Amino acid sequence: MSRVNTVLGPIPAEELGVVAIHEHIGYGMPGSELDTRWWKSPEERYEETVPKLRQFHEYGGGTFVDATGICNGRDVDYYKSLSAKTGVHIVACTGFVGGDTALPHFARASVDYLTRQFVHEITVGIGTTGARAGVIKVGVSRGGRMTDLDKRIYRAAARAALATGVPILTHLAIDAENAIAIFAEEGLALDRVLFGHADDGVNAEKTRDTWIAEQGGRVGFDTFGYETELEDPPFWARPRQERLDHFLRFIGKHLDKALASADANCSPLGWPGVKGHTVNYIFEDLIPDLRRAGVDEATITRLFVENPATFLSIQN
Ligand SMILES: [Zn+2]
Repeated sequence: MSRVNTVLGPIPAEELGVVAIHEHIGYGMPGSELDTRWWKSPEERYEETVPKLRQFHEYGGGTFVDATGICNGRDVDYYKSLSAKTGVHIVACTGFVGGDTALPHFARASVDYLTRQFVHEITVGIGTTGARAGVIKVGVSRGGRMTDLDKRIYRAAARAALATGVPILTHLAIDAENAIAIFAEEGLALDRVLFGHADDGVNAEKTRDTWIAEQGGRVGFDTFGYETELEDPPFWARPRQERLDHFLRFIGKHLDKALASADANCSPLGWPGVKGHTVNYIFEDLIPDLRRAGVDEATITRLFVENPATFLSIQN
């Protein structure tokens, strides 16, 4: 039976339900935890987060994949309590958002060291939490091209994915030629990789989404809700209709490769976050928009239940 690592233990993939494939309980840049201006009490963090997860659960959400990774505020004991209290399955990741968010200890590490680190977090657990990572996060550093460190992380991730059967989720899908070359060299099938953020306002133009799908990769339209219509939109925002049209074009050709999410922060760390945007955009706006555009229920189930279950299932 196929299974998925959640922070409360492995579960059958059939129990994931509706999956938010790329989200954050709390995301901050490395070092923000040292800036007292941003410190939050446990009460504040729970107060900001629990109602969003409860709402997600009430809407029919089953699983929340936290794509935060090492060095950006991942806090697995906290995730465990959130999951136990709200009933939402939470999948934590090992890996890094990008080379530029890896602290020097990891930035200087060899591919072998990083591989062992990822494998340990997937098979033994993250720190002393006992929780095993269910996905590996990698990413492209700022600048638009993969750095040498990014490439080492991608290679280590590929080796850890092969050793454990856990999939890879990427921050950004630009410079995909370099990423795909590494995965090919390591012998990792591209359907084990979700190339994320194909839809954001900065990178959509530069992302070869259909080409990635043609190579066998999965493509994440996972910044839904960061739209220019927001009161104070972030720099990666995009007009709502433009993103939706882009997604509809993509699923028209490559439904089997498509995954969608909101990349929201329940309780941002070291920055104010983006007001008015939560994981529940999926239920409140995205799914209604898809229905209005004529997308049928079977396709919606495919996008939010079946495709994520196949992707997240441990392959071994
Ligand atoms: Zn993210």
